[in-house]
Amino acid sequence: MRAPLRDTRSRLRADRWLIWAMFALVAVYTVGLLLHGEGPNAFVDVVLGELTQWVPAAVFWMATVRTGFRRPDVLFATLAVTFNSAADTYYVFSMDAAGQAPFPSPADIGYLLFYPLMLAALVALIRSQMRGLAWSVLLDSAVGALGSAAILAALLGPVLSSAIDESEALATGVAVAYPIFDLLLVAAIAGIASSPGLTMGPRWIYLVGGLLFFAAADVVFALLEVSGSYFAGLPMDAAWAFGLALMAVWVHAIGRPRSGRVLADTKTPALFVPAVAVAAGLGVLVVGTQIVQPVAAVVLAGLTVSLAAIPLVFRHRLLRRQARTDDLTGLPNRRALYADAPALLTVSRVAARQRQCALLLLDLDRFKEVNDSLGHDVGDQLLVQVSGRLSAALPRNAMLARLGGDEFAVLLGGAGEAEAMAVALGLSDALETPFVLEGLSVQTRASIGIALFPEQGHDLSDLLRRADMAMYKAKATHVGAHIYRSEDDSHGDARLRTLQELRLALGQDQLRVYYQPKVSLLTGAVTGVEALVRWQHPERGLLLPEDFLDLVEESGLMHSLTRIVLTKALDQAAEWHASGHDLTIAVNMSASSLVNIDLPQQIIGMATERGLAASALMLEITEDFLMSDRERARSVLTRLREAGIQVAVDDFGTGYSSLSYLRELPIDELKLDRSFVLPMNNDAKAAALVAATIDLAHSLGLRMVAEGVETGAAYDELARYGCDHAQGFFMSQPIPAAELDLWLNARRLAER
Ligand code: C2E
Ligand code: MG
Ligand code: MG
Repeated sequence: MRAPLRDTRSRLRADRWLIWAMFALVAVYTVGLLLHGEGPNAFVDVVLGELTQWVPAAVFWMATVRTGFRRPDVLFATLAVTFNSAADTYYVFSMDAAGQAPFPSPADIGYLLFYPLMLAALVALIRSQMRGLAWSVLLDSAVGALGSAAILAALLGPVLSSAIDESEALATGVAVAYPIFDLLLVAAIAGIASSPGLTMGPRWIYLVGGLLFFAAADVVFALLEVSGSYFAGLPMDAAWAFGLALMAVWVHAIGRPRSGRVLADTKTPALFVPAVAVAAGLGVLVVGTQIVQPVAAVVLAGLTVSLAAIPLVFRHRLLRRQARTDDLTGLPNRRALYADAPALLTVSRVAARQRQCALLLLDLDRFKEVNDSLGHDVGDQLLVQVSGRLSAALPRNAMLARLGGDEFAVLLGGAGEAEAMAVALGLSDALETPFVLEGLSVQTRASIGIALFPEQGHDLSDLLRRADMAMYKAKATHVGAHIYRSEDDSHGDARLRTLQELRLALGQDQLRVYYQPKVSLLTGAVTGVEALVRWQHPERGLLLPEDFLDLVEESGLMHSLTRIVLTKALDQAAEWHASGHDLTIAVNMSASSLVNIDLPQQIIGMATERGLAASALMLEITEDFLMSDRERARSVLTRLREAGIQVAVDDFGTGYSSLSYLRELPIDELKLDRSFVLPMNNDAKAAALVAATIDLAHSLGLRMVAEGVETGAAYDELARYGCDHAQGFFMSQPIPAAELDLWLNARRLAER
């Protein structure tokens, strides 16, 4: 999976000050309101008051721009807040010397537009994340809104009816509409936030908090306004300002890659909103038996309770549907596939024309990496989007199910070998365009295994097993899609066997470390070596990392492997240093081995034990590690750096990262991935890219190493561009230490 270097984390710190400034402003405004004298105060009510409206609006617009106007939910929310602020400005300029403005007035149109636009934002959000299941969210939200309205009608009704006369029905209606709409939005958001598979963004609780402040202020406003005693400059005005600021905190976090702390996983239980609303409705009805309640309150309470009962009526169907549905994607789940497959297969078997069926098993490549490096939220979003694209790419007679994790199955009726392959290729094509996840563009590919009915299995279990083997074959050979062949049978078994052998290999010292020299392009001197692991397999011979590293990672053996390689490499380095070769030794670190926070200390201990200076050791890390958790990466790297160990970013240019880490993290060296270096000689654009990247590294004070230097021409070209070091087959393949000694001696002789 490759992703362009596009993320917005770099701006995170830069505009965090804005949030602080916004709250400072609200605080000053509040103090201003508390010290407020009689009548409007131009500085407090106009200058400060309007700033507290427009600064949050600016934060909303920044979020809209940051998400490239591609998020309708953010755009609608921004418009909502903008109309609200514009209305407020109109209000302030239309008020009289006592701070009172006509009510209702054109300002109320702007204030009221806030609600349908916010609602549009929520609908856009639901639509973008979920298909089909959203009615339950809407129902929960409606129950919540009705319950809130019932309570409000019960509380406000008596006060309002005594305070107003008929002629002010419009004003009363508008005044009462505000708090009811606020609570409706709160209920809708809480409903969405508590639905599995839907996310309101990491800080949704701030949006709810902001709206609750609005609601509280609006209730007080309604009571004061209908009795004619509201005027601008009351301390309660601060509640609107504070509410807006809280909403801005919500939008500020949208579309940003997540940093350290997890806020999003605080889901309210799914039944929370309707349960509270029903309790409120029942409360109104029960109180109504003792005290006379406004008719509206009783009707609303009755509606709340009846609406909440609808899911109970359909409970049986709902439960059945839930049991068959995958929570995250809304697709049928494994259980549904097992339930429906027999019918489909039997129809095929008894059909007059012997019809075939095909089972496709699809697994995303390197999904674990997305999950580990970008977080589970992003992983979930990817799965939701993938399922959407797959559904859209399938013919109508296909059944798509999510089996779990990143595994999907497709049951294709009436499909033989050719049709199944065509559908598989169509699915691969559908995943081709990069996915946009929280402002980050991520590309993913899938491996698809195909098993045919009835030739390759008579029931679903058989077909799944065969498709699974075919899928592993597809994955191992990077072909995208593969139809089961009998020789694949051994492949699944082979994997299991390899896993057992791998455990043995680690215990029985079957790992080898090969070394590849790194040459200074300035002087031609060999300055260091990279340690690359090999597995001397007792039967299969020497295996390369690509043959076993994935398995090592999957089976949680990476820590042991890293330790073994480090030990061997440091032993070898000590030997070279003793014999007068001052070579820096570079060891590759997977993101998972760096999770261990004691690692820097352990490595430093290992180096000093051997009398090696820490500067003789370099660790090669990948961009994915830097992305996974910036704070942890910083702390690990800083400690390594403080101890004198050097850090290089490996495969530079291929990860999901933004370039901002280059500025922020302690790094010594970049290793430009060979996919940039290899095409350099016959592609002017590739060459230009390499040259520019070298300049970039230098301007940041970093050394640049080119990987994959295979020809003299590439070597010379890189030297011309000012690249610092080169590594590649042109100088030497990775070789055992003893051979490297010979190579070094031969090179030294040739130089004389
Ligand atoms: P890497 O760290 O980017 O290592 C460079 C890889 O490029 C090596 O593959 C090397 O043989 C290959 N290479 C070097 N020069 C050339 C060239 O001129 N042309 C081409 N086409 N390839 C060249 P190798 O040894 O198969 O290692 C593959 C990857 O496996 C490494 O990529 C590294 O990411 C990983 N790896 C190797 N050893 C370890 C280890 O001890 N621990 C961990 N975590 N990963 C390792
Ligand atoms: Mg490396
Ligand atoms: Mg590399």
